[in-house]
Amino acid sequence: MTNPSEPPGSTVTLDRPISGIDLLSSHLAFSTTASPAYDWLLRDITPAGRTSPHCRVFRRRIFPDATPAQWNDWQWQLANRITTRAALQRFLSLSPREEAAFARCNGSLPVALTPYYASLLDEKNDHQPLRKAVIPVLDEHTAAPGEAADPLGEEEHSPAPGIVHRYPDRALFLVTSTCSTYCRYCTRSRLVGREHHGHHTRSAWEKAIAYIEKTPAIRDVLLSGGDPLTLSDEALEWLLTRLRRIPHVEIIRLGTKAPAVLPQRITLRLTRLLRRFHPLWISIHATHPDEITPEMSQACARLADAGIPLGSQTVLLAGINDEPETMRRLMHGLLKIRVRPYYLYQCDPIIGSSHFRTPVAKGIEIIQSLRGWTSGYAVPTFVIDAPGGGGKIPITPEYVEGCKHGDVVLRNYQGNLYRYPDHAPGGTAAAD
Ligand code: SF4
Repeated sequence: MTNPSEPPGSTVTLDRPISGIDLLSSHLAFSTTASPAYDWLLRDITPAGRTSPHCRVFRRRIFPDATPAQWNDWQWQLANRITTRAALQRFLSLSPREEAAFARCNGSLPVALTPYYASLLDEKNDHQPLRKAVIPVLDEHTAAPGEAADPLGEEEHSPAPGIVHRYPDRALFLVTSTCSTYCRYCTRSRLVGREHHGHHTRSAWEKAIAYIEKTPAIRDVLLSGGDPLTLSDEALEWLLTRLRRIPHVEIIRLGTKAPAVLPQRITLRLTRLLRRFHPLWISIHATHPDEITPEMSQACARLADAGIPLGSQTVLLAGINDEPETMRRLMHGLLKIRVRPYYLYQCDPIIGSSHFRTPVAKGIEIIQSLRGWTSGYAVPTFVIDAPGGGGKIPITPEYVEGCKHGDVVLRNYQGNLYRYPDHAPGGTAAAD
């Protein structure tokens, strides 16, 4: 591991990407070292008082041999992910629809969830929103018209391994295909959980970085995947150091669901590392207000305290978060933990996603239920990522009724009409 006392900007040499799972054994050995230089790190992996009571009960019942320190160690969480039907059945009573999905399992999106996220699931109710987001049901084996493995056409916009360059001044850099917990509606279900496509080796990363280096138009790089925060601190440091050396890369963004599914990953050591690479922004994938636990709150507080601006991304999902009241609770909950709601996505038409997709009108209704009725900061931008690679297209409720006698006629959030004098500079009325 990197010596924590190394100066900022030091690099490590990697033969291949290092995942948290790879580092589990060395981390545990390291954590027993009683050197004063590592005191802060040791504190970091001991219980911080932010283990919810239901998590403690779940740990004692399902993982009786795990100590509180292990439970609060993100590498223990990764090493003990729940990935099989038998493991799920230790704490979930699977419904016929869920059982049938496992019976049909044919190499599609794998199942994995952290013990922490598992502790949030309802053991008996298969309609619980969090459970529906991560436990497969038979519907995901049914393809509907218009669905595709790569609905956003990312492969066609990939000039280098792991790079998607769709917009002029920014690039998506897919640095891993691993997530701690797999969402059943994942846009990249064609990639995640699969390591065979070779995009995430050290040499692939070098090619991706070389592309960014030779493309001065790219001023904004978004690290995504998979979840970049399943990478080790050393791998992240290597990537961020290399990207920060590129003069035209002004900002680096990182997309992750870790605060919601693996909050233990947000260690003080990680935040000390990330803050060295400002301006660095983080987009947090948040699905439902029940994800906002004391653990997630602490994770976001650590990131915010490190000066990292936090935004959220939420996929609109039928039966999970498509009620205005649920979305309002989620947006308010995010603001309270210093996460600014950023995007609300119409669910992408990946294969087997029809049971998750809502009519577009539902998203418009939800935005209307927020705009004007609550803080503007709590209102995300509702977008459709255009199939075929057209990029994000904002979908907004109609607030402009038309023009009349040089005025713009506007409708407010309560449905009342107002006129605004639409004059050009100098007072000339704009044409009707
Ligand atoms: S965390 Fe993101 S990349 Fe990973 S499975 Fe969920 S949606 Fe896909």
